[in-house]
Amino acid sequence: MTFPARLAVASKNAHKRREIARICADWPVTWLEDADWPDVDEPHATYLENALAKALAVSAALGVPALADDSGIEVDALGGGPGPRSARFAGEGASDQENLALLVEELGRAVGRPRTARYRCVAAVAWPEGETLHAEGVCEGSLVTEPSGERGFGYDPIFVPVGFDRTMAELTDEEKDRISHRGRALTALGERLATTG
Ligand code: IMP
Repeated sequence: MTFPARLAVASKNAHKRREIARICADWPVTWLEDADWPDVDEPHATYLENALAKALAVSAALGVPALADDSGIEVDALGGGPGPRSARFAGEGASDQENLALLVEELGRAVGRPRTARYRCVAAVAWPEGETLHAEGVCEGSLVTEPSGERGFGYDPIFVPVGFDRTMAELTDEEKDRISHRGRALTALGERLATTG
């Protein structure tokens, strides 16, 4: 396995797609734009299973290799949740704003608990024949209860990455991509694609 000639991005999340396009801008592939496929469920308990399910389903539907990421935030005060359920924390179909508001509320109730958290991402490529390759990235940080910043998405307005005194939503794109879970997972995956014979 090496970089495929053509690669589809198995995500309908516009924020994720933009970040993937930036982080993987130097991958030697032709990106398959505007491809359409049925919605893929995320029924599994782990990022890896969900990432593989998305990449395999889209790759099979389109007949070309597909790249997927599954990601989430792990909040120590909530026993490591919501994790792979981050997109549905406030319920099925919840918006980023609803999920963020619920997390701020839960943190307010978790008085005296640690404020540490991390983002985790598993990025995977699947080929139509069923082969897969994946890599994981983690970004450690802490949470504030006063949202701040307009950039990024999801929980970024309350997530302060280690080494910064600003939230992820206040970082430039370059700063976020350099240290983010997605940046790290995709960079590692790119290295695996470049070196796997
Ligand atoms: P999924 O990977 O589609 O299951 O969704 C991941 C969810 O985790 C998103 O909907 C966000 O709530 C959260 N998330 C993942 N990555 C980020 C990020 O870079 N910033 C903010 N929230 C994120």
